[in-house]
Amino acid sequence: MLIKHILAAKGGTVITIEAGQTLREVVKELAQHRIGALVVVDRASKPVGIITERDIVRAASQDEKFYDQSVAGAMTTNLVIGTLQDDVRAIEKTMTEKRFRHLPVVDQNKLAGIVSIGDIVKAQIEEFQGEIQSLQTYIRG
Ligand code: AMP
Repeated sequence: MLIKHILAAKGGTVITIEAGQTLREVVKELAQHRIGALVVVDRASKPVGIITERDIVRAASQDEKFYDQSVAGAMTTNLVIGTLQDDVRAIEKTMTEKRFRHLPVVDQNKLAGIVSIGDIVKAQIEEFQGEIQSLQTYIRG
């Protein structure tokens, strides 16, 4: 299974924010959209980083007045990005080893979606259920 198969099912919407915005705005967006990460983009909509709920927790643990801090100070800039042709199992291995749960996906230098570890687990469960059904049909003749 490839990343493009997951995005075909869930769509390519990516909620983004800019580095100059505040952590207050990040918290608001995460809560409003019920998501765990925002991709940080520049004025040209190019991904330049990611900020997740873990980054918010870290900022909050260091400063009780973290809401007014800028996204720039709390985001991760060393961004790992996937492509539509990436194999889901390889991506799952990378995400597990590097301990992150969100992977922005680009296609022709443009954001094409975001895949979470939850999306990957869901897709694999559906794939396994399909295989089980095929085998049951085969066994029953
Ligand atoms: P997460 O498990 O996705 O909440 O992220 C854990 C940490 O990894 C946070 O500091 C994130 O900013 C960072 N992170 C999440 N996704 C990525 C990614 N695709 N590339 C690089 N860092 C990431």
